[in-house]
Amino acid sequence: MEDIEHIPKELKLIDENGVRLDGRRFDELRPIRIEAGVLGRADGSAYVEWGGNKVLAAVYGPREAHPRHLQDPARALVQCRYNMAPFSVSDRKRPGPDRRSVEISKVISEAFSSVIFKEQFPRTSVDIFIEVLQADAGTRCAGLTAAAVAIADAGVPMKDLVTSCASGKIGGVVCLDLNKDEDNFGEADCPMAIVPRTGEIVLLQMDGHLTYDEFQKAMGLSIDAAKRIYDLQRDALRRRYSATVDEILREAAAAPAPSPAPAEVAFDSQLDDLGREGSP
Ligand code: UDP
Repeated sequence: MEDIEHIPKELKLIDENGVRLDGRRFDELRPIRIEAGVLGRADGSAYVEWGGNKVLAAVYGPREAHPRHLQDPARALVQCRYNMAPFSVSDRKRPGPDRRSVEISKVISEAFSSVIFKEQFPRTSVDIFIEVLQADAGTRCAGLTAAAVAIADAGVPMKDLVTSCASGKIGGVVCLDLNKDEDNFGEADCPMAIVPRTGEIVLLQMDGHLTYDEFQKAMGLSIDAAKRIYDLQRDALRRRYSATVDEILREAAAAPAPSPAPAEVAFDSQLDDLGREGSP
């Protein structure tokens, strides 16, 4: 409740100059930061800050699917658990799954199911964990974007990354990437996820109402933004895996001298033995 108490009754989410409450224009994203490989125990991981959202994704697999009766002899399962920490929202969130988190987990696992090369890993599962540490609307998009980087970080073969973004309508204007107040008091929110290389849409949801033209405009905004987010995802992976020539030389210099090859050791010990036999 306290979240909406500060909102005046006559709230203008976007003014006559097209400026939103947080100062953005209709086609501007909130600031996004992506880091790959932030957790030591998971096979792959990523952290995303997206406006006020803070989201961690961890990926395991492909690993033997449990319980065994779930195993598919022809392909891997792609399983996702989206979870919001109790402290992620201003009213404490009751821990554990609820209808919303089950729905989000399902749509995210379906989105990745269509890009991961599942047939290469029969009887296994790829397990995706998304933990929302702080929420400010658009957490499924931030979670999906983080999970895609985590899956790549885990080395799971897939067609391409998946990139996600939402657009909606506030004060009668179609806008990109709604924040919490805009999501609460706006007219519509439409999250989507795309495979940038093929243009395939792998997630599409709608909360509220948009006309056909508004929907087209919203999709146009999201698709444009997805290209920018895709670059950030790839940058995060590049930062994690690229090494400069300097770094390689520095590491080589710091490494201990290689121990002699086994054949040399054997030959040296034979010489020693001969020396001993020959000595009086
Ligand atoms: N939210 C909340 N409590 C909840 C669920 C959601 O405060 O139990 C907030 C949270 O900030 C979330 C926003 O409502 O980001 C919008 O939720 P929605 O279901 O639209 O999903 P999202 O936009 O996060 O993907």
